[in-house]
Amino acid sequence: MNPPSKILLVIIDGASDRPNEDGTTPLKKANTPNLDKLASLGINGIMDTIAPGIRPGSDTAHLSLLGYDPHKYYTGRGPFEAAGVGIEVKAGDVAFRANFATMDENGIVTDRRAGRIRETHEIAKSIQESVKLGGAELLFRESTGHRAAVVFRGDGLSANISSTDPNKEGKPVAVSAALDEGKEARKTAVLVNEFTVQVQEILREHPTNVKRISEGKHPANTLLLRGAGLVPHIPDVEEKYGVKGAVVAAAGLVIGIGRMCGMVHLPVEGATGGMDSNIAGKVERAGKALDDYDFVMLNIKGADEAGHDRNFENKTELLCKADAELAPLLDIDPENVVIVVTADHSTPISVGNHSADPVPIMMINRSVRTDRVREYNEFAAAEGGLCRIRGMDLMNIVMDLTDRAHKYGA
Ligand code: ZN
Ligand code: ZN
Repeated sequence: MNPPSKILLVIIDGASDRPNEDGTTPLKKANTPNLDKLASLGINGIMDTIAPGIRPGSDTAHLSLLGYDPHKYYTGRGPFEAAGVGIEVKAGDVAFRANFATMDENGIVTDRRAGRIRETHEIAKSIQESVKLGGAELLFRESTGHRAAVVFRGDGLSANISSTDPNKEGKPVAVSAALDEGKEARKTAVLVNEFTVQVQEILREHPTNVKRISEGKHPANTLLLRGAGLVPHIPDVEEKYGVKGAVVAAAGLVIGIGRMCGMVHLPVEGATGGMDSNIAGKVERAGKALDDYDFVMLNIKGADEAGHDRNFENKTELLCKADAELAPLLDIDPENVVIVVTADHSTPISVGNHSADPVPIMMINRSVRTDRVREYNEFAAAEGGLCRIRGMDLMNIVMDLTDRAHKYGA
């Protein structure tokens, strides 16, 4: 018997849409000969990435597409962001997203992004080295721009505490408070407040800030924490499916989800996640990774941003570009690989945010029952043989197609 097929899951972030006044969508409008060819070779359908009517976040949608019930495993954005910046989070840790911010001498936040500071590496190093907390270990790492991730590790921690981000300027840095009666929440809120005070002390005369002030820039003299989440125990893809997994993505959140599910992140130079991202490099990396991994998830950003910006033309253009860069998918042998192309959610131009409209999905492999669909878009996909599936069922379907599934019953 041949070894089981490899799996390539391509997620075009936020690709699908609602029809505009002309009854069309960016995906329908875009010239996508390669995706259309793939659609004609495969089986097509539409998918509710979480469930009908549930508007997915990119994080909850990706978890669901990997077969992890987000209701069970999604405990907040913090843990996935922390994993995304490379912190090796463990079950029981409490993780946060953080912003470097500027406050005045009275502790009033005057700039929630500290002048969109970028040079945070030295500051982050000082925080990691100098903060001393009673009762927990600190893991701190800078992310892109003014962002960072904070993890507390220790016994008896809780994520049920309030954030320190006042959410707007002109207000003081908030004091974290326990949101339940338990001693774990009280302990964690005390830790967060102690951490914040120590960080402010370290940042007050930090060389990076002295330099910024001398240049007339806003200093990064405080941190604002939010998105607290208790790191869940997530069985990795090897344990769950018996596959070695890898993720190719630019977005920290998607990288973090891949890592939390035991997948290896394969970096690609120039993969920014924006309209100018090196999509070709990502596609090439993902294709090559199939030599070493059983399962590769490739996330392509850009269409989602254009949807948030309500820019029909940009979204259409990004999808044309993505199609051209995805041409190498046609060279992959469908004997040995299951190719899945889909989106994590719709980001309609008319909404400017994610919606629950199902996304088009296609699967290309020797074992699929091909249908009559000849184009890749929301309308054509709905006519396909896969009909309407749930994101949580995707990996099971793929495991069956690749003969990895076990029989249920006798
Ligand atoms: Zn998304
Ligand atoms: Zn989005």
